[in-house]
Amino acid sequence: MQLLDGKATAMSIKKELKEAVDLRKKEGKKIPHLAAVLVGSDGGSMTYVNAKVKACDEIGFESTLIRYDDSVSEEVIMNKVKSLNEDNSIDGFIVQLPLPKHIDELKITQAIDPRKDVDGFHPMNLGNMVLNLPGFLPATPAGIVELLKRNDIDTEGKECVVIGRSNIVGTPLSIMLGRNTNPGNCTVTLTHSRTKNLKEIVSKADIVIAAIGRPEFVTADMIKEGAVVVDVGTTRVEDSSKVKGWALKGDVKFDEVSKKCSYISPVPGGVGPMTIASLMINTLRAMDLKGK
Ligand code: NAP
Repeated sequence: MQLLDGKATAMSIKKELKEAVDLRKKEGKKIPHLAAVLVGSDGGSMTYVNAKVKACDEIGFESTLIRYDDSVSEEVIMNKVKSLNEDNSIDGFIVQLPLPKHIDELKITQAIDPRKDVDGFHPMNLGNMVLNLPGFLPATPAGIVELLKRNDIDTEGKECVVIGRSNIVGTPLSIMLGRNTNPGNCTVTLTHSRTKNLKEIVSKADIVIAAIGRPEFVTADMIKEGAVVVDVGTTRVEDSSKVKGWALKGDVKFDEVSKKCSYISPVPGGVGPMTIASLMINTLRAMDLKGK
């Protein structure tokens, strides 16, 4: 078994991005600027946003973090989105999801200027992705495709099962891996909570991608010998042996599945760092697209 080491792969992407930024600095060009809107104090969201800001620092991007209390109104967030859309110094921005229940996530996502939507969640970017037209690819699926590419995983003609059909991971990923590209050209089966015979379907797959949010759901008896396994899940579970009192668990039972598969991405250190690397790629592109 070999590790699909997202941390190492993301580091080499960040190195390339840093070189691009250093060159821009030398040429007196604008430095990419990413803004992040964070609502509330959910531990997971804070960790993700902090990691995004840290990645900007490492690469040499400018970053701005805008924070609000849980009680902030939808109108305030909407007005912030409008002002970020109009702010020429900001090349791309994200509104970290999930938002509190009283704020309509779809409404906020749709209000983001698609040219600054570096998370790739706007319907226009998702539509462009489906049609294979230029636009911003959703960060997590794009990161997974890049992880497969940079680790020379052959996807052509392979049976791929994606578990989970969310708008931000499973559904776009199933489209990206099914289209006529490299990586791509897989025969994709998109599964979900209503899928019958999930174990039987997954156990025939050459490539399994688990994006469910249920710790250790995928066990060795579901996996074909030599399959490639990508674990997207990140759930905090209690762990008294850790100083913080919790550990991050993936959707795959790593200890047993790793003995059977050819490649596996760990949690943490797999898809998470690749998602952030994709966001950084999108931010640089956002600025390039504006011709700055
Ligand atoms: P989500 O919106 O929570 O949806 C979960 C999906 O899993 C749904 O499609 C659901 O089916 C399916 N599902 C639930 N139980 C199932 C079961 N028993 N059998 C088969 N399918 C089942 O998903 P998400 O936002 O994509 O998140 C999934 C996981 O990935 C979470 O742990 C999240 O934290 C993690 N994540 C990680 C990153 C990263 O960068 N590392 C990024 C995004 C998400 P139904 O549609 O039928 O309900």
